Amino acid sequence: MNKERQEEHVQEKKLRKNSHSDMGRVTSIARKINFAQVGQLFCAYVGMDVFILGVLVVIAVIGMDQQFVGEASFRYFRELSFRTDIWNSVYKVFDTNGILLYQLPVGQWLRLLADGGVIVVTIQALDVVMLACKGTKQVRKKLRPLNQIAAKAQELSVLAFNETKYHNLENAITNLSTDEIDQGIHMHDKELQGIETALNGLLERIRASYKQQVRFVSDASHELRTPIAVIQGYVNMLDRWGKEDTAILTESIEAIQNEANHMQRLVEQLLFLARGDSNRQILDKKIYELNAMMREVYEESLMIDEKHYYRFEELGKAQVYGDCDLLKQSARILIDNASKYTKEGEEIVIRTGIWKDGSPFYEVQDNGIGMMAEDVTHVFDRFYRADAVRGSKTGGTGLGLSIAKWIVDNHQGYYDIVSREGLGTRFSVVFPKVYENE
Ligand code: ADP
Repeated sequence: MNKERQEEHVQEKKLRKNSHSDMGRVTSIARKINFAQVGQLFCAYVGMDVFILGVLVVIAVIGMDQQFVGEASFRYFRELSFRTDIWNSVYKVFDTNGILLYQLPVGQWLRLLADGGVIVVTIQALDVVMLACKGTKQVRKKLRPLNQIAAKAQELSVLAFNETKYHNLENAITNLSTDEIDQGIHMHDKELQGIETALNGLLERIRASYKQQVRFVSDASHELRTPIAVIQGYVNMLDRWGKEDTAILTESIEAIQNEANHMQRLVEQLLFLARGDSNRQILDKKIYELNAMMREVYEESLMIDEKHYYRFEELGKAQVYGDCDLLKQSARILIDNASKYTKEGEEIVIRTGIWKDGSPFYEVQDNGIGMMAEDVTHVFDRFYRADAVRGSKTGGTGLGLSIAKWIVDNHQGYYDIVSREGLGTRFSVVFPKVYENE
């Protein structure tokens, strides 16, 4: 504690010292800026005076020419001559042949000009002197906000070297236990509050992702245990009674084949999701004709599933930017579900084209068992299966829609689901509009 206080004291001293030297630096900058300002003002006044004087002389010359000769000309010779002093001078104008056109005593005018000039120059000189005296102070006032920012930055840079605080933070991180799920860093130090909050946020995210992984692995092993148990059961039965019994043999082989297929599908789906979770799933995106793509999927379905009646509808021509294979896979999952959860002989509609808001879309509509509103909110959860289908022999894994969702999410698309129990379901998938430079 003592060491900490000592360090704070040293820092305060450093800060004070730094702030003094900063003030000195600001004053010298302000002086330089003011010097430049004074110079500028001086030059501006001199320039202005010369210009006004010039204008006055030209106006006077033109005016006199016009009054005495009738017209002004730059070709005349002009002369200002005086005998004793300038205040008695005479202004003479000759034509191009040297003949005197007119002459005027202008001493009085020159005196007037000189008196006016003295007044103007005095005022200007006073202004320059005042700026020279007060300007530095004013510039310093204007620079104050900058000075404050510099002081704050200085303060922060000194704080950054408060070693004890950083050692404490280091210790708090080192002492974090991986077993205590909700443990965080609590230093109760205002200056480290930001780092503390960021670290605790990071910890929370890591823990949430870890919990999700643990649940996924435990669900996956649970799902794999069932087919393994069934296969083991049949193998035992065969071992005991079925070696010579052809009926038992046939039943067992069929069951083992089914379970092995189910396991294979499950493992493939698990691998897909694991690749997706770890960003190892590579997407090869291009612009595709969505209608043509969906027509291919429709024709495949006609060949694979002869138990349902398939219809293909096009609502305008649409393009989509994405990975063709993955997009087809997402559509196949929806069609497979429609066929699994719809009675034989019923109709399944595959629709594609332009959605209400002009975006590309496809949808799969069935008049199968439908779902309750509660089920609709969970269909994308991993391993989720509605009560109505859990015991059935549809061979589902509860992972199909999770995969379909991953694919659509990674194409920045979204789902629109309409489902009524006993009436049917419609899954619509809407993608972002395509721009040619994609
Ligand atoms: P499964 O392999 O069980 O079909 P999915 O993830 O594809 O897994 O679907 C999750 C659940 O959503 C299904 O078990 C089913 O309860 C429900 N479901 C999906 N599609 C439909 C559909 N077309 N009609 C009725 N229920 C559906």
